[in-house]
Amino acid sequence: MGSEKSVRRVKALVAGNWKMNGLKESKREIRRLAKKLDTGGKPKCDVLICPPATLIGLLREEAKGTGIAIGGQDCHAKASGAHTGDIAAAMLRDAGADYVIVGHSERRTDHHETDEMVKAKAEAAWEADLVAIICVGETGDERKAGETLAVVGRQVTGSVPEGAMPKNMIIAYEPVWAIGTGLTPTAEDVAVAHGHIRSLLTERFPETGKAFRILYGGSVKPGNAAELMAVPNVNGALVGGASLTADDFYGIISAAYL
Ligand code: PEP
Repeated sequence: MGSEKSVRRVKALVAGNWKMNGLKESKREIRRLAKKLDTGGKPKCDVLICPPATLIGLLREEAKGTGIAIGGQDCHAKASGAHTGDIAAAMLRDAGADYVIVGHSERRTDHHETDEMVKAKAEAAWEADLVAIICVGETGDERKAGETLAVVGRQVTGSVPEGAMPKNMIIAYEPVWAIGTGLTPTAEDVAVAHGHIRSLLTERFPETGKAFRILYGGSVKPGNAAELMAVPNVNGALVGGASLTADDFYGIISAAYL
């Protein structure tokens, strides 16, 4: 009971991942979201938007004084150098980011990122004073083979660096088969996966394991957000498609008013 309570007290984070979407005009969604947050009452969760890197500076300006934080979607593991097309964590920080997503399944698939690479990116994020949101999650085939917990456990163990603390690292559990598909695991399945991640964190970081935020991601919408965020050890959401419009994203943020 005591431990359940302390897990529950972790402040939720609702984070939007805009992926490769958004132009300068998208700043109006920030304005619209800020208005909703202003009139709807102070959210019980932290709110973050991770736009494409080209928009970080602009959205940071737009979000000033609104409580909406801005983050990046990926960073290179190195601080600088000959890596055409890549972006360093310090550049994200310099542009106005406070967080960065690393190890998203689209990066793991499209760019063949390994746990070792994700771990190095999380360390690079810390060097630049960014909070690293480390994504993990099983594919549909792995789920069908009954390997969900083994895969997620291996990713958490391999991707989370030794220096992880609740203030510098967040886990996002995102079943790959649920991303952008409209499918979601049952609340029971989410509870099992998040419970497993929580126990790995508490085993490895006995002092702080209960205080890490573990977000659920994968087809979160205004209509299912309350149920998903009420699951034990779910401390918020990482949202793709439904974060692109202020209306939907606010609907999800409101569900964290539990
Ligand atoms: C994501 O890509 O992180 C994600 C959760 O996407 P969606 O919400 O669209 O499933």
